[in-house]
Amino acid sequence: MIGQDLLGIEPLERDQIELILETAERMQEIATRDVKKVPTLRGRTLINLFFEPSTRTQTSFEIAGKRLSADVVNFSASSSSLSKSESLLDTAKTLDAMDPDAVIVRHPVAGVPQRIADVLEAPVINAGDGAHEHPTQALLDMLTVYQEKERIEGLTIAIIGDIAHSRVARSNVYGFSKLGAEVRVAGPPTMLPAKVEELGVKAYTSLREVLEGADVVMALRIQNERLGGAFFPSLREYSATFGLDRAKLRFAKPDAIVMHPGPVNRGVELSHELTDERPSVILDQVRNGVALRMALLYLIAGRSGATPERE
Ligand code: ASP
Repeated sequence: MIGQDLLGIEPLERDQIELILETAERMQEIATRDVKKVPTLRGRTLINLFFEPSTRTQTSFEIAGKRLSADVVNFSASSSSLSKSESLLDTAKTLDAMDPDAVIVRHPVAGVPQRIADVLEAPVINAGDGAHEHPTQALLDMLTVYQEKERIEGLTIAIIGDIAHSRVARSNVYGFSKLGAEVRVAGPPTMLPAKVEELGVKAYTSLREVLEGADVVMALRIQNERLGGAFFPSLREYSATFGLDRAKLRFAKPDAIVMHPGPVNRGVELSHELTDERPSVILDQVRNGVALRMALLYLIAGRSGATPERE
């Protein structure tokens, strides 16, 4: 994958996803060392180009790059000052002229990482674009499920919430389906995209039905910044109908795990208890995000022939 863009899960083949997950498992050991650093990307430069706020993803890419000894530059631009597409591409080209080995892009508009990739020499990694894709989130979710359940093939994954506006849902639908899981989605009818079943998922408007037989329950954040209109009567009603707590989780399999990409609106998508305690694996998702991004940076921005173990 050296020098290749990662713009979404949709274009990936199953064996590429498996390679990324296997590489991430090898990277996990580095976080347990006293000195959490290997020289794999020494002399490589990574640019974080974030046009939208991010806690987890930006920090995680920064830590991942630093653990591999890359030089990491954070360029946080307000989307308002760079809202014209020309100045956006000019900015990207300017950064590209400094010869980075990868550029990681987050933008509120779907398709911007692709536009930037079209004009850049450096490979582009999509860190979330509008309601389109968030491939690294889906990959860390797949890694987390694989490590919890020791397989993905044949599992039932229930994704609940604002499916229409969620790049996390879209990337996970592609990813888990490619790995042979059955993916179901549920939410208020206004939050289910038209023709969602064409993506190969089953859609439900009842929490109880979507949970029946689920191995993994993934709750999504209500994304007020992308709603632009009322899609449900009130947060209280949303929480009563689609919010998860221990009582409602009983409809799922007894060993079901609960996931959330964060940030959680506590008491809306998940009860406080389910946010903090097993079977919730939210902090494992965050932890796995670092190893997963190390794997991607190594695969995309590394030198051919270098292995983290050997260095
Ligand atoms: N952090 C995820 C994202 O950037 C999920 C969310 O914000 O709801 O898409």
